[in-house]
Amino acid sequence: AQKYVLTKYFQGEPKRTDFQIVKEELPELKEGEILAEAEYLSVDPYMRAYMIGYKLPADMIGGQVAKIIASRNKKYDVGKYVTGSFGWRTHTIVNPDGNQTGMLPITLLPDLGSYPVSLALGVLGMPGNTAYFGLKEICQPKPGETIVITGAAGAVGSHVGQIGKSLGCRVVGFAGTDDKCQYLEKELGFDRAFNYKTVNIRAALKEGCPKKVDCYFDNVGGEISSTIMNYMNKYGRVAVCGSISSYNDVNVPKVSILQPAIVFKELKVEGFLVNRWTDRWDEGINANLNWLREGKLKYQEKVYHGFENMVDALVGMLRGENTGKAVVKVK
Ligand code: NDP
Repeated sequence: AQKYVLTKYFQGEPKRTDFQIVKEELPELKEGEILAEAEYLSVDPYMRAYMIGYKLPADMIGGQVAKIIASRNKKYDVGKYVTGSFGWRTHTIVNPDGNQTGMLPITLLPDLGSYPVSLALGVLGMPGNTAYFGLKEICQPKPGETIVITGAAGAVGSHVGQIGKSLGCRVVGFAGTDDKCQYLEKELGFDRAFNYKTVNIRAALKEGCPKKVDCYFDNVGGEISSTIMNYMNKYGRVAVCGSISSYNDVNVPKVSILQPAIVFKELKVEGFLVNRWTDRWDEGINANLNWLREGKLKYQEKVYHGFENMVDALVGMLRGENTGKAVVKVK
């Protein structure tokens, strides 16, 4: 068994030399425990942001889909799959009954039929629930309203847009390449998508949002968010989901002052963490699974290969190589 240990705090982009891969001996299973072998590991933006809060050396955090290869727990049969916040490690021994204190609950995967189990890290997992609860609970969009999404072609953003369309809203996205924008408009049914690296944001908003913006699902923060919030309607709602535009910054950049827009437009701006809805976790997963089966929810994955390439995958995702969810197939 192997695991990643972070030994140096990130400076700018994560580097392979910030980590050590450490071998582990696996002890015998105790009553109630399972041994799970990782099949897919997740690389997510929060990993870049959170590890600065840990005392080093620290085991690398992260979600994974793992196959149960030995079990002394009647509810968890060998051959079934679980998801859990097991970190960047090939094998995990855990008692799922007594260990629901991780970032996310340990969940036995439902039968996904012909869908790949990796979806449990994407549309049928944490990013899917972030989209589902973040949009519905924080933005509370009504039919006919306009939703703007940044980070729109990523795991969370691409999902938010599709829920927005199914709720009868106008959906406008910002993403980092023309190909991603094409995909959002042609495949996912976004009304408009703009490449934030090449357009003037205000001009794009004017063109894409004739009735201005009622809901803003903010995945990136920074200057673009200030511009969008200044283009909102009165009583607009902002779901502050993430601020990836600053995660790799050594010096946090200056952004335009936002308070006048918040006051005069009487905006409701709310940050959230998806684990607020841990007790409703299955509701989100099941809703997304139903949409998937009905053909209303499309997905893409960027699959990296090899446990030894975790850091490249993390950096690739932070650089925007992914459309949809970035995952690593362990073997
Ligand atoms: P994504 O799949 O969206 O991957 C990250 C994407 O961010 C990249 O593909 C890239 O796309 C974009 N990006 C990178 N740098 C910048 C930049 N400087 N400005 C704008 N976009 C950039 O990741 P997720 O869907 O997993 O996460 C999206 C956001 O949601 C993150 O901020 C994350 O922290 C947050 N999040 C929050 C949760 C919560 O509970 N609050 C839970 C899950 C995620 P591009 O080519 O478009 O630049």
